[in-house]
Amino acid sequence: MPLAEKALIRRLRLRSGRARGVLGIGDDCASVQIPQGHEALVTTDFSLEDVHFRRRLQPAASIGHRCLLRGLSDIAAMGGEPLAIFLSLALPRTLPQSWADGFLEGLLKLAKEFGVTLAGGDTAKSSGKVLADIVVLGSVPKGKAILRSGARPGDRIFVTGTLGGAATTLGMLLQDQRKKIPAAEMESYLYPIPRIEVGHILRKKGMASSMIDISDGLSTDLDHICEESGVGAEINSEAIPRARHGKLRKEVDLASALHGGEDYELLFTAPANKRVPPRISNIPITEIGSIVRARGIFLKTKNKVRRLHPRGWEYFRRIE
Ligand code: ADP
Ligand code: MG
Repeated sequence: MPLAEKALIRRLRLRSGRARGVLGIGDDCASVQIPQGHEALVTTDFSLEDVHFRRRLQPAASIGHRCLLRGLSDIAAMGGEPLAIFLSLALPRTLPQSWADGFLEGLLKLAKEFGVTLAGGDTAKSSGKVLADIVVLGSVPKGKAILRSGARPGDRIFVTGTLGGAATTLGMLLQDQRKKIPAAEMESYLYPIPRIEVGHILRKKGMASSMIDISDGLSTDLDHICEESGVGAEINSEAIPRARHGKLRKEVDLASALHGGEDYELLFTAPANKRVPPRISNIPITEIGSIVRARGIFLKTKNKVRRLHPRGWEYFRRIE
């Protein structure tokens, strides 16, 4: 049985961490100083049991980690830095306290790694499932956030890391093939690292003209950039950095890399004359195509070009 609201808040307050300029849990509102010359970035994301996660598939700590990851990844995608986080949590009466502890442990560990305080939230009983909403407050120098709308024809398209790993691992978990997943692969599925540092460097060096995090899948998230920028894209199927999986380290299939969600890598564009290094803060950066004037996304394979329709997360995931 989870702790009563007051006891839970007391515990959260003890573990929430401190940061300069943040007055956190304990008052009606948190008070957070925005660094001089910066503007606030705010993002909010649900993590709902049986919609975004299943309790039987992964440890509570991973669910807490991924809950915060969603928000941190949005801040990364703007080139910002996180300042404080807020967690609204509704827990069913029947939930074991150990589960709630594990969830908070995973979430607070990631918060600590990125130097952010849990500065507030809300707590309630839910009538059935675990419902969590994370708010991340961040900042970016005024007018310098990297938007989805900045891509121009002729820009090159890049992604960080590899794609399709999360969807492939999730597929195996859903098929009860846990034993076939090597430890390192499982670790990167359960505890992915938000690309805050890469996003920060891209912004500071003025390399990216537009950016988004890949939460719903490459095809869907690239479509968001195209839509907001009023452009199209051509991507080269052989250039897409596919994750490797299983004991044989086989590349995941192309569909997973194109449409699988939850990798939380960054997708960005850079003007043709900007040099983009092959690694940033030790994360591989791969050029996968270019922005074109004609609307739509086109996938080039060896001998043909076909239209690629966005069918990310919504279509692809098999959680239900
Ligand atoms: P109020 O009734 O003013 O909303 P609460 O009793 O809900 O106050 O919360 C008291 C304090 O505890 C507030 O500072 C609030 O931000 C914090 N808090 C409540 N729930 C959480 C939570 N799940 N995570 C972090 N802080 C929380
Ligand atoms: Mg409240």
